[in-house]
Amino acid sequence: MSYFAQPILGRKQFVLIPTTLDDVVPEGHDVRILDELLRGQDWSEWEAEYCLVRGQPPIPPRVVASVILYGLLRRIRSSRVLEYMTGHNVDFMWLTEGRTIDHTTICKFRTRFKKQLKTLFRGLGRLAMTMGLIRLGEVTFDGTRVKANNSRYETWTAAEVEKRLAELEAEFGQLLDESERVDAAEDERFGLQSPPALPPELADAKVRQQRLLEAQKQLAEADAARRREGLKTPAQLPSTDSDSTVLPNKEGGYAPNYTPTAAVDTHRDFIVDAEVLPDANENAELVPMVDRVEDVFGQRPEAVLADGLNATGPNIVDLEQRDVEFFSPSSASEASEGNPAVRADPRQPVPEEQWPKLPISPHTKKLDKSCFVFVPEENMYYCPRGEPLPFEKSKPDVRQGQKIRLDVYRCDACVGCPLAGRCVSDKNQGGRTITRDHLTPDRERHAAKMRTPEARTRYARRFHAGETPFGWLKHVLGLRQFLLRGLEKVRTEWLWACTGYNLRKLILEVGRLRAKFAAVAADEGN
Ligand code: SF4
Repeated sequence: MSYFAQPILGRKQFVLIPTTLDDVVPEGHDVRILDELLRGQDWSEWEAEYCLVRGQPPIPPRVVASVILYGLLRRIRSSRVLEYMTGHNVDFMWLTEGRTIDHTTICKFRTRFKKQLKTLFRGLGRLAMTMGLIRLGEVTFDGTRVKANNSRYETWTAAEVEKRLAELEAEFGQLLDESERVDAAEDERFGLQSPPALPPELADAKVRQQRLLEAQKQLAEADAARRREGLKTPAQLPSTDSDSTVLPNKEGGYAPNYTPTAAVDTHRDFIVDAEVLPDANENAELVPMVDRVEDVFGQRPEAVLADGLNATGPNIVDLEQRDVEFFSPSSASEASEGNPAVRADPRQPVPEEQWPKLPISPHTKKLDKSCFVFVPEENMYYCPRGEPLPFEKSKPDVRQGQKIRLDVYRCDACVGCPLAGRCVSDKNQGGRTITRDHLTPDRERHAAKMRTPEARTRYARRFHAGETPFGWLKHVLGLRQFLLRGLEKVRTEWLWACTGYNLRKLILEVGRLRAKFAAVAADEGN
């Protein structure tokens, strides 16, 4: 007799009472709740996409969507693994009721139903709201970085595109010569006129040339934008997924990336809005997010918590107009406590022994704008030396894609000032300047609000709620790189993942509530 446990069911053993798929999946199992929740959704919009007249009967879209979403709950994103699971894993077999689904079907399905998936995401959100899991009292907004399906080394600069186009021109010449030589030989041999069709190699070269010309145009625009920002390095265009942008990775280094965003209700960490941006400009997405949430749930969030990048003038003003409280650490340049520039009379200089405490701007490495006090009645700034910076001129500028007018204030007492080395940049020969636009008072008011203990306490709630979905999606689900290419497909992939995340939370909640009711019923029965 072996010491080790004997097999319970031998490979050749017949069972006396055959089991059903339903017997194998226990009551209250996640897959049962998922199936129940998804059956409760409206699938007519999905089904309307099918012909329903000809061909082999298709697998119902609800079943394929359930497989993809249940796969996400089980940390499976690969369509090939999902195909394997539908033939070998009892949960999946129960879900599909024995149908196996080919990986190509799953792949095509994932990108085909973007509009319908959005409806499903919203439907589940409304269900969560009905269950009291979404309250829209506080919503956090944040973005993260996820790598595009494009190697770090597969990027082009304008110079590289230029070189490739020249190589292609030479290749064209060779291919045309070759084609003419073959045509002439065939005409001579068969006495026939060769068809005027383009040889396949040449047609392929034409496609490549078209792509390179488009890349050249995109890079010219990107290079011009970088020059305007004062950046000297050339723009890089990912060559495999040209919708992505070369951005810093969260783990360090640079790579073609996308910026997925998520708005999360802080009550139970449900995602109420999901989007993907091709670049890092997530602050421009904050107000549209509030409008989309209102569109879906019929009400705006009472408060929005977002990181400091979002505390832009337009966002502050737009959220105020929508009556949404906004909590975001502000880098506004109003002098704050601990800054020796804060003094009763700004016309008096800051004592010399306090100069080392004057804040330095991390960007310019010179005295920060917060060292300069604005006096609205005089329309004048005062510097730490108590010297005035009167209004000099207005000039046009562009901020976050919007045209604005900047008021420039200039000091004319900088020559010989002992603080000049720490205050005036080498490029600025005419004295220190400070600029102000029409939204500066709004930014300063917001900064003053964010310094209050109440605002800081509210803002601190952002960290848990805002980061939890990203933690699950990136760490547990392993979504650190998109599988699909192109912005629209990547957006759909992100929406599937966020729908999976919300579904998981709903399943947990339903399971918890059922266990609670069962316990209460058992208590009453005793
Ligand atoms: S350099 Fe000019 S602006 Fe700066 S502290 Fe001196 S006087 Fe004031």
